[in-house]
Amino acid sequence: MAKAGRGIGTLAVHGGEPPVRPSRSVTEPVVFASTYPFADTAELVAFMRGETDRTPEYGRYGNPTVAAVEAKVAALEGAEAACAFASGMAAVTTTLLGFLRPGQHAVLTDDVYRKTRVFALDTLSRYGVETALVEPTAEAVAAALRPNTRLVFTELPTNPYLRVPDLDRIVSAAHEHGTKVVLDATFATPVNLRALEHGVDLVVHSSTKYLGGHNDVLGGFVCGRRGPVEAIRDLRGTLGGILDPHAAFLTLRGIKTLELRVRRQNATALAVAELLEGHRAVERVYYPVLASHPDVQVARALLEGGGGVVSFVVAGGLDGGRRFVDALAIPKLAPSLGGVESLVEQPALMSFFDLGPEGRARIGIAEGLVRLAVGIEDTADLLTDVAAALDRIA
Ligand code: PLP
Repeated sequence: MAKAGRGIGTLAVHGGEPPVRPSRSVTEPVVFASTYPFADTAELVAFMRGETDRTPEYGRYGNPTVAAVEAKVAALEGAEAACAFASGMAAVTTTLLGFLRPGQHAVLTDDVYRKTRVFALDTLSRYGVETALVEPTAEAVAAALRPNTRLVFTELPTNPYLRVPDLDRIVSAAHEHGTKVVLDATFATPVNLRALEHGVDLVVHSSTKYLGGHNDVLGGFVCGRRGPVEAIRDLRGTLGGILDPHAAFLTLRGIKTLELRVRRQNATALAVAELLEGHRAVERVYYPVLASHPDVQVARALLEGGGGVVSFVVAGGLDGGRRFVDALAIPKLAPSLGGVESLVEQPALMSFFDLGPEGRARIGIAEGLVRLAVGIEDTADLLTDVAAALDRIA
């Protein structure tokens, strides 16, 4: 159950919405406007003094449809406020830039989304921010904290090995040290994890994944207490990465079915993981709530479900993986996850192609690793498809 006794399914449909809209429509109107006029100079001056509560004067600072989806995501997370961005990366980069100053230090767990790491190591370093990349465990995070550590940025479950560090212990180690914690909960979703209840300071989502849920729209969110979220919103107004109104509407519409989709994806992914574990053509399966996963105890305590992504190493290395992927009939060969269509990729040939075999070995990306992101197709059809593709390579 989420905030105010309402279930997450009810919040996904009604959360953050007014009882009656000015348009009296059941759905949120899409407001396409780049500028918002004032009735007269008196209204302008009152607005500038912060005396009126209205849509900001210019589309880079806010939009009514964007505000509607922000209210819904805040309701889902039980947050005081949320701020919407044009992509998950716009949310991540704006948040990191907002928090960190020259001379400060950030601790990132080393399997956070690759572009988040790239931004910290290649860009933040140019502005005098040092980053430590550490194993996704509470011990490693605690050991990396320094007097100037301002931020711990972590993610769970992580990609592609679906690690689930002990969030409560990370938060207490960071807070004892006076350091804030930002969690990228894209893979967890507000259905599987109530992140703010674990003391996280800010939660980030790539809504391109489960929140939008239909592989048709990019977006990102930051949620938390009003003060820090408003500071990030101000920076969004300068950096310019606000969500577009049409994208905001698609995301709102997608969220209405979030709970149904994620519960189906949890169930299907678990069934697929169990099938994979018993198959002779599979060397190793990674699914957070399976007994064989290194973080199973934390995952079962923290998460309502393991999510829609299953990673596994098939026999035969790069070629075995390629033959398996090409033999699948339902999942499409594409990056991303969390949408209604199942997607599959071989990380060695997609996100980590540029590293080459040695580079991949260095960071532990197996050549035969496959990442399957299940959609909402019939579980039985996906199981049949996966089993048939495995039989082709066994
Ligand atoms: N965070 C995670 C965990 C992701 O998987 C992704 C994208 O795959 C991002 C952030 C970036 O989101 P976007 O692609 O919407 O910029």
